[in-house]
Amino acid sequence: MHHLLGRQLKKNFGDKPPASPEFAVFSQVVSNTYDDYDKDHNLLEHSFDISSKEFQELNNKVLKVVEEVKFEKQSVEQKVVERTAELKAANERLVELDKVKTEFISVAAHELRTPLTAIKWITQLLHKDVTSFTSEHAEQINKLNEIINKMVSLVGDILNVSRIEEGRFGSTLKQQDILPLLQSILGIIEVNAQAKNIKLIKNLPPTLPTLPVDEERFKLALENIIGNAVKYTSANGQVAVTAVATADKLTISVADTGIGIAPADQKRLFDKFFRANNALKHDTEGTGLGLYIARNIIEAHHGTITFNSAVNQGTTFIITLPLTERAK
Ligand code: ATP
Ligand code: MG
Repeated sequence: MHHLLGRQLKKNFGDKPPASPEFAVFSQVVSNTYDDYDKDHNLLEHSFDISSKEFQELNNKVLKVVEEVKFEKQSVEQKVVERTAELKAANERLVELDKVKTEFISVAAHELRTPLTAIKWITQLLHKDVTSFTSEHAEQINKLNEIINKMVSLVGDILNVSRIEEGRFGSTLKQQDILPLLQSILGIIEVNAQAKNIKLIKNLPPTLPTLPVDEERFKLALENIIGNAVKYTSANGQVAVTAVATADKLTISVADTGIGIAPADQKRLFDKFFRANNALKHDTEGTGLGLYIARNIIEAHHGTITFNSAVNQGTTFIITLPLTERAK
């Protein structure tokens, strides 16, 4: 008999519980019900114990994962900070190295210029006397003169590039009569054009206004742009140079019927040392510095330089220059 039922019967009936068979069956049923209740109760408590234990374990696992993630995050953040500092230091070092490199090139070009000027001077003396040499020697002197001139212009280009890079490529602009300047540039180019059997068309008006220019640099820029037109055009082609002045600006266009520039190369045209593949095949000589310098010169004159081109059809460069120094 269940102890609770026993206790209750004792309370109600003392030591003499009713002796009828119905009462015995009733007591048995009540006692069984108490037992079932105890069993269910135990089962419930036990199962709750298990789930709360599992919950605890799960909770601990979650907390552990959260801790691990927190730690990971901290170490990633730390790594990002460290890498950023490393990159900053590497970048500073690169800037420093770039400066050293530019300085080195600048010093080397300066040092080369002095002996080169002496060689050029001696070669020019020999060149003047070229008729007094045998034809074989005369040919060698002519070649030497040509090579020296190329070296002088290469060293000059390198010096100009380092001046641009170091921000000391200041131009001194003076009002100049532009027509004779253009004519003298075209006179120099004409020799090359004739040698290549290229027709040089000069569309110059009878008068042109004066312009604020740095004569030496303006010549350098124009000689390269018109020189390129001749250089990158095959025999029997033509190059047309046109100058037009309006109230506020001078426009010079240089149109050739040459090899053209592929669309993919066009955005790199003014980059230092860039030479397109078709140009490399057409003319092996050149450093790819001419246009970089020319654009800097034109910009120092507050002008603009643009071009349009089609492969194997030709290229037109358009230069505009303001008539007054302040106009842009
Ligand atoms: P250099 O430094 O001796 O002038 P370069 O003529 O090769 O050498 P840039 O004058 O700077 O160098 O010109 C850069 C490149 O632009 C050329 O190599 C060529 O690919 C392209 N280019 C310039 N002008 C023309 C042109 N008129 N027609 C076709 N390609 C041109
Ligand atoms: Mg060139």
